[in-house]
Amino acid sequence: TRSGASKKQAASVEFRNVTKRYGGVTAVDSVSFTIEPGKLVTLLGPSGCGKTTTLRMIAGLEMASEGQILIGGRDVTNLSAADRDVSMVFQSYALFPHMSVLENVAYGPSVQGASRKDAEAMAMEKLGLVGLKGLERRAPSELSGGQQQRVAVARALVLEPQVLLFDEPLSNLDAKLRRRVREDIRELQQSLNLTVAYVTHDQEEALAVSDRIIVMSNARIAQSGTPRELYEEPADLFVADFIGDANILGGTITGIEGASAQVKIDTLSLSLPHRGAAPGAVKLAVRPDAILLNETPQPSAIAGHIRKASYLGTQIEYDVETAIGNLFVVQYGRTQPIEIGKAVGVTFETQRGVAIVPGA
Ligand code: ATP
Repeated sequence: TRSGASKKQAASVEFRNVTKRYGGVTAVDSVSFTIEPGKLVTLLGPSGCGKTTTLRMIAGLEMASEGQILIGGRDVTNLSAADRDVSMVFQSYALFPHMSVLENVAYGPSVQGASRKDAEAMAMEKLGLVGLKGLERRAPSELSGGQQQRVAVARALVLEPQVLLFDEPLSNLDAKLRRRVREDIRELQQSLNLTVAYVTHDQEEALAVSDRIIVMSNARIAQSGTPRELYEEPADLFVADFIGDANILGGTITGIEGASAQVKIDTLSLSLPHRGAAPGAVKLAVRPDAILLNETPQPSAIAGHIRKASYLGTQIEYDVETAIGNLFVVQYGRTQPIEIGKAVGVTFETQRGVAIVPGA
């Protein structure tokens, strides 16, 4: 019998030059990546970039036009969904409305030949894991959105798949619940050591839940890395803008020494990792919270003044006009916004949050 949450080893997922075409549309274009066992990897990108198609190809709900897909080292490229040992949690949850919560979760094992008693025992165990004990006799319509979502997770877990897939699992929940449910999903993934591929278009959600993020743009991978790598070392302007709302500013590399570039940006001189850039004009990604505002400006600071200030409780957001353009600035831990119209000196916290964008 198959009780116990972690009987099966978590498996890796590997794409080797996978392409998916629908007629003349290339939805996924020669994409390669590896998800290590027990890791949560997010496919992140704007609408139409190919993330859902990628997820559905892992599941076997779409077949690759070209390339190879491996799960746990096994070539599954030509296997149907039923033979892949993968479960998916759909955006819509896709619960059976006429069945109870327990029946919904026990359905999979029943279809696979478990006795009713065994199937229900397996279902009860997973309902316990997602915190739904006591609600098993209800119909899905008698549950809140968050509870329905957890039934969908229990239903995906009950077959103890090698890989679990989530397609925008939070999109039907309100903002407050979204944060809690994403934490629950992450906790469950870590405690059960599950391999998870997770699709979202929300960069904050991706940063919060992922071991690694694969950023997609126009059917290709723009960059993959840890949340910190993507935030601090964006590979291109698309990633810099998509993750963390960077200010993109023009500067000049005046010299290179070892791994460092001397960069001039208006009145400021910075020393930054050169990231392969050559002397001359460069673009810099500057995070909103890496910009420091000083009400008694140093002569070396970039001169600016406050155009807009929004008090948001934990943070204050500013629009600051300067000679190098309008800057989006976020300050934490201040209670009193700087007055609109006030002159400020702008400097950057270069240790964190200012990066040369290669090739831009
Ligand atoms: P969203 O966040 O809007 O769901 P996505 O990043 O998940 O977007 P996909 O759904 O993977 O994007 O779609 C990628 C591209 O492939 C889009 O241009 C889409 O129109 C196209 N596409 C997806 N499914 C099909 C299909 N069944 N037939 C034809 N074109 C499709």
